[in-house]
Amino acid sequence: MTDFNEARERMVEWQIARRGICNPRVLAAMRRVPREEFVAAELREFAYEDTPLPIGNEQTISQPAIVAAMIEAVDLRPGERVLDVGTGSGYAAAVAAVIAGQVYSIERHAGLVESAREILRRLGISNVTVHQGDGTMGLAEYAPYDAIIAAAGGPHVPQAWCGQLAVGGRIVMPVGRDPHCQRLIKVVRRSEQDYERSWLGEVRFVPLVGEDGWPVDDCGARAGDEILPGKNR
Ligand code: SAH
Repeated sequence: MTDFNEARERMVEWQIARRGICNPRVLAAMRRVPREEFVAAELREFAYEDTPLPIGNEQTISQPAIVAAMIEAVDLRPGERVLDVGTGSGYAAAVAAVIAGQVYSIERHAGLVESAREILRRLGISNVTVHQGDGTMGLAEYAPYDAIIAAAGGPHVPQAWCGQLAVGGRIVMPVGRDPHCQRLIKVVRRSEQDYERSWLGEVRFVPLVGEDGWPVDDCGARAGDEILPGKNR
């Protein structure tokens, strides 16, 4: 029988803190969310491995370290409103929800929407809502957002996200010309008109498929794609 609490502590220490992630809110949130609940029963024993895991529909639950790195990069603060694009299992949304006020999460696959809602409900996480649709259009109903995070990589930052970002808000997403290979980009909205961009590290995420992302036929998503460079090679 795996002791998940102990495994989770070890994960935070070895995979996250030792990679240089030091924001105490992020570390506390990673300690709190039971990743084993977001994967199928037969994969639970691998829940605290340093790797993404399959969740069905050719998609993956993100590697823990990358969830932590993205939430640190987006500088999430208490009370904030977050748009999480690519709900998948719901894990990243749950971690963000420990820190933020409200998380609006959007996923294109109906089956994943259903299972994420069910897991979040079972865990009693009430400040995440899961919506089905094309996240490249954002989610205009609940805008503006203080932070937008995306767990799928697109060819560019979707136009709608910039408009739905509050002044002072931040976007962190993977962007690249190859649907399977990207760099993390950070966009900060400095004023109504001014956006500042910076590049973070290289990453590999599943493709962001949609109207303002990759066309469906261009890129069969390859489960297990999402890794930090230098790991699992
Ligand atoms: N954050 C998730 C990671 C899921 S992988 C987790 O922690 O489990 C990325 C997800 O993005 C996949 O589920 C994929 O279906 C979804 N996705 C891809 N393009 C999308 C789009 N345009 N809108 C919404 N979701 C999208």
